[in-house]
Amino acid sequence: MKSNEQDTPKIGCHISIRKGYLEAAHSAYLLGAGAYQYFPKNPRSLSVKSFNMADALSCASYSKEYGLVSIAHTPYPTNLAVHDPGLMNKTVESLLNDLIIAEACGSIGVVVHFGKGKSADPLTDYRQILAALDEVLKEWKGRAKLLIENQAGDGSPMGTTLHELVQIRSLASFPEKLGFCFDTCHAYASGLWRPGGWKELVEIGNQLGYWREVGAIHLNDSVYPFASRKDRHAGIGCGAIGESQLREVLECPLLREVPFVLETGVGADGTHHEEIQMAQEWARGTPS
Ligand SMILES: [Zn+2]
Repeated sequence: MKSNEQDTPKIGCHISIRKGYLEAAHSAYLLGAGAYQYFPKNPRSLSVKSFNMADALSCASYSKEYGLVSIAHTPYPTNLAVHDPGLMNKTVESLLNDLIIAEACGSIGVVVHFGKGKSADPLTDYRQILAALDEVLKEWKGRAKLLIENQAGDGSPMGTTLHELVQIRSLASFPEKLGFCFDTCHAYASGLWRPGGWKELVEIGNQLGYWREVGAIHLNDSVYPFASRKDRHAGIGCGAIGESQLREVLECPLLREVPFVLETGVGADGTHHEEIQMAQEWARGTPS
């Protein structure tokens, strides 16, 4: 058996593409991961990247052969709620570029934050998010989806409830090209996931039809407490969420087929190897 396969969801971490897309997939495999995330281009810029297609295609075939699932993440400056027409165009071009690279690399989707606006009337910000999504997705014919990520609530309360996420998807012109990325740290820090309330969150998400559209999980603990509205990731079991609550997420039968990606700091060996192993054991229900 080539893949790092087990009877658990595919679990991995964020990986650098410093040495290219194929090398990123290879490093994920060597870490014992079944999934990984990467920035398709410079994470600090919205500039369109002319990328190495041969490298991307090799990454896709390697991932397929070794059973790796990958997701891309948009650059930090990406904000769907941007109103300036020039910046909106740049954002749309950048998102299409991210989707093209992700598709070539064989990735299932591109994670994009919900977006933050500062308009006096928040409805104009929601409309802007919809306009940006429609603009990108009317051009997009590939299979990779945009995966909208819930936010921690720092700076703006937007994108912190399942109702908003589901509503944006259903109002978009191409909902079939949209899914969700659930970030555990953001969910806890925003006040969406109450202490001891995992089952309640599963139930609400089921009623809204949220979970069935979740394409990826960002598996992070939170440095700051419940409802602090501060976005600082901690290693799993080392933050306010803690081991027993993260175990509930990892053991959740609804999420068996969904890739889990750590966005945490590296361990003592300079990698995520141990944290991935630990998450795999939690997912298997092994007592610590
Ligand atoms: Zn995240």
